[in-house]
Amino acid sequence: MKIGMKARALALDMGGTHIGCGVLEQDRLLAQMSLDAEGASSLAGLLPAVTDTLRSLLREAGLTAQECVGIAIGFPGIVDVRNGAIHSTLKKYEDAPELDLAGWARKEFDLPLRIENDARMALMGEQYAGAGRGVDNIVMMTLGTGIGSATILHGRLLRGVHGHAGCLGGHLTVKFDGRQCHCGNIGCAEAEASGWSMPLMAREWPGFLESTLAEVKNPGFLELFTHAKKGDRVAGELRERCLRVWAANAVSLVHAYDPEMVILGGGVIQDPELVLPFVQEYLNTHTWSSWGKAQVRAAALGNAAALFGAVPLLAEEMHGA
Ligand SMILES: [Zn+2]
Repeated sequence: MKIGMKARALALDMGGTHIGCGVLEQDRLLAQMSLDAEGASSLAGLLPAVTDTLRSLLREAGLTAQECVGIAIGFPGIVDVRNGAIHSTLKKYEDAPELDLAGWARKEFDLPLRIENDARMALMGEQYAGAGRGVDNIVMMTLGTGIGSATILHGRLLRGVHGHAGCLGGHLTVKFDGRQCHCGNIGCAEAEASGWSMPLMAREWPGFLESTLAEVKNPGFLELFTHAKKGDRVAGELRERCLRVWAANAVSLVHAYDPEMVILGGGVIQDPELVLPFVQEYLNTHTWSSWGKAQVRAAALGNAAALFGAVPLLAEEMHGA
């Protein structure tokens, strides 16, 4: 992908609990800030704060909006990058499909807008500036509130005819008689081991009331891993189960897309020494491959990965993709 000299962009990453905002110049993040979106179901209510934040980040970076090529948004849902439509949301920013976000970007910043699925934008970022530099065939899994995925094949993002391809990896079935998922399917990886489903699993785990986890109001992966390390039996068993779900999910993704690399991102990768070797070993043992084994890597850009995807995403439009 050819990207013009000094391409600058505004970027938004609409996550489950926060909105990441950034100003990019090529593969450098000049300024960034995170807005709290915990519990917010409406995006319209957050837009004024987003506008103010982007303006103050531009000031911090010493730039004007007119020096940027556009605004890129990573959105947690099904989007069509070709016309900027948000087709489907999942329990977050439910009003987004009705909002005229392109109109907002024009009115507030006089800039064009491009919207992509958040996991796809994160993978674009990792390929452009992170763990996937120089690699043309990558699957990324983002383990967070949900499980996002994205796929780059032959150097290009896989999108599919309806915008679904490659980004629903977290909704591949790992347990056909498992938990009901928000998406309509049963036993998705996301329904079996994600930020939203793990506390539900924990409460149903045999012996949970005797576990130190029972004292935590809303246990997340940080608590799960900490309590497991301290030797709590339930936390240890739950952690093992989550690792197996993610590893099985990774095998399915490798079987589906034939990547050279699997990038793992999201909050869970704060503990890469545990997660990466587990998934790598599981892949080595359980994938059918004629050429070798896909390499498992930790995302290099942390929570900012999607922001780094802004410049290549906007450049793609200019080059007619
Ligand atoms: Zn699902």
